[in-house]
Amino acid sequence: MPRPIEALIHPDAVAHNLAVARAATPDAKLWAVVKANAYGHGIERIYPGLQAADGIALLDLAEAERVRALGWRKPVLLLEGVFEARDLELCSRLNLWHAVHHDQQIDWLGANKTHQPHRVFLKLNSGMNRLGFAPSAFRSAWARLNALPQVDEISLMTHFADADGPNGTAAQMALFDEVTRDLPGERSVSNSAAILRHRGLRSDWVRAGILSYGSAPDYPEHDIAHWGLRPTMTLRAQLIATQQLKAGDAIGYGGRFRAEGPLRIGVVACGYADGYPRIAATGTPVLVDGVRCGIVGRVSMDMITVDLTPVPAARIGSEVTLWGRGPQGSVLSIDEAARSAGTVGYELMCALAQRVPVHVADGHGA
Ligand SMILES: *Cc1c(COP(=O)(O)O)cnc(C)c1O
Repeated sequence: MPRPIEALIHPDAVAHNLAVARAATPDAKLWAVVKANAYGHGIERIYPGLQAADGIALLDLAEAERVRALGWRKPVLLLEGVFEARDLELCSRLNLWHAVHHDQQIDWLGANKTHQPHRVFLKLNSGMNRLGFAPSAFRSAWARLNALPQVDEISLMTHFADADGPNGTAAQMALFDEVTRDLPGERSVSNSAAILRHRGLRSDWVRAGILSYGSAPDYPEHDIAHWGLRPTMTLRAQLIATQQLKAGDAIGYGGRFRAEGPLRIGVVACGYADGYPRIAATGTPVLVDGVRCGIVGRVSMDMITVDLTPVPAARIGSEVTLWGRGPQGSVLSIDEAARSAGTVGYELMCALAQRVPVHVADGHGA
């Protein structure tokens, strides 16, 4: 028997979560954002769940090729645009729409002997200060693009820095509206947090990333149950040992955790080499046979130790859910595990380690 750990991917839940985004912004077209290999899930694995989207957004050209090879005929958008001039050939060949966020990308377009004109998304830096033209440079960039025969349609985009937080979207949206006033073209502004929390914004195309993967963009203010989202990735393992401790006994490297009284612990076949965060604190929740328990002591490379007090019947072979769907309809959101490790669901799903076997769930139990 292989080591008892696996990840399960739930494409049906991706479809459900995209429907949540659709319901929140019924008039918008929906990009499913599948960068970073679909946030660690595997583009091919979740592909059946993407069918209801109007387009697929990503940043890696090889991933764009994979999406086309899967048979996707609807739009594909490169969120960071092209990285060098010759990438434009692939854009023409595969009909990829691409963001334009700096002058050199316009130079490359102008020099490109393209057959099929390009559809571009001109990006405004409205305050996040990663990608995009400064407000003062935006309209001249638009005019340069508009003068190029290589470009047939210009859409307008920006990205919010704090749609999930207290700053919200108002200041960036006001700037975007001011700079783009009178310009024709479709707008794309909303990410997951804006889709769910800022519903009145004009965004002809919304960009649903993390919500598609069953993580609440504004956790812990709201959780996935609040937004009606379902987990799309389950990480599960089994107990491979149990230990009976007495008062004063220590657990694991550094003996950081000591039992205050008799304590039964379970040893789980999952560690940081599987992508479970080493920094996860004592008390980080896991499900043992569907019952909530907390980890105790340090996470090691291949193992985690768990307080079995809430589940006395647990034994070697008991199922342990690190995140996602457990037995009998139980759920442990990836956001809860992430928070105990001082991070966010995004990072955990993207960091699933190579050695963990990944399977696609059979579609039931959504
Ligand atoms: C990743 C990304 C998104 C999706 O963000 P989520 O918070 O995952 O919804 C949207 N727009 C751009 C430009 C991105 O890079």
